[in-house]
Amino acid sequence: MKTPENQSVLSLNTGAEIPQLGIGVFKVDDDECERVVSDALELGYRHIDTAMIYRNEAAVGRAIANSGIPRDELFVTTKIWNSDQGKDTAAAALETSLELLGLDSVDLYLIHWPAPLREKYVETWLALEELAAAGRTAAIGVSNFEPEHLENILEAGSVVPAINQVELHPAFQQRAVRHVGEPHGIITEAWGPLGQGKYDLAELPGLGDLATKHGKTIQQIVLRWHIQEGVAVFPKSVRKERMAENLDIFDFELDANDMNTMVAMDSGRRVGTHPDDGNW
Ligand code: NAD
Repeated sequence: MKTPENQSVLSLNTGAEIPQLGIGVFKVDDDECERVVSDALELGYRHIDTAMIYRNEAAVGRAIANSGIPRDELFVTTKIWNSDQGKDTAAAALETSLELLGLDSVDLYLIHWPAPLREKYVETWLALEELAAAGRTAAIGVSNFEPEHLENILEAGSVVPAINQVELHPAFQQRAVRHVGEPHGIITEAWGPLGQGKYDLAELPGLGDLATKHGKTIQQIVLRWHIQEGVAVFPKSVRKERMAENLDIFDFELDANDMNTMVAMDSGRRVGTHPDDGNW
């Protein structure tokens, strides 16, 4: 993939590259999503994170088609929903997503939640391995997997996930699960990087000072921290000026002291559902 201008990329364990910053479209209505993704692409975003359950894949697809951007310059992720998990249902779920997106393949297909009470994530993983082999997705990965879930698929499968996408923000830094993935080359992606607006970032000790020091907003400091932690990140905003702000984080660097200040903000504060409870 071509490196987006003035941005950073990470190398997946498949050898492919992923733009480290993207746009997420959770809770963006299908009506609005085409405009949101079009704005993001115009600003220079080249990585889009959607999911079947967001019900906006068709809008993402329209924005991509209208952009005229060559397919190989875009990185598109979607996810299989819990009720589609299973060895006989996963392929049809991906086909539906591809049809809605208007694409022949995605760059990354994730198991959205382990949904452990459904007891299907291992067989779903094996089905995803086949979908990757068939070329319907370039890479496969997981989301919201705890160390135990990761270990189960590492043992049963023959492909190591490229990605584990988990809730990750300054108050919830996920050191344990990252530690399990790292030796396998599993890249962590951060969802809810800004805490989903569920707590006031300004209350994090030292964050305001870092913003003043670097002449950036607190959101830019938080996103820059994600970049320097080596995780992929795709903040959501429907407002073009905020999308531009979130992209404007490649012209400064946090130093070691700044990074230590960020690391000290980890209070174990989860804002979303615990993966063991996401069995919808
Ligand atoms: P987020 O942390 O990106 O927060 C989004 C909120 O932050 C928005 O409501 C917006 O108002 C605000 N915001 C964004 N930029 C801002 C700025 N510059 N200044 C001030 N406020 C700003 O939360 P999210 O959308 O839940 O997470 C990002 C993406 O992660 C999602 O869109 C989705 O693609 C993905 N996600 C995945 C899962 C999963 O289970 N895998 C769960 C949630 C989200």
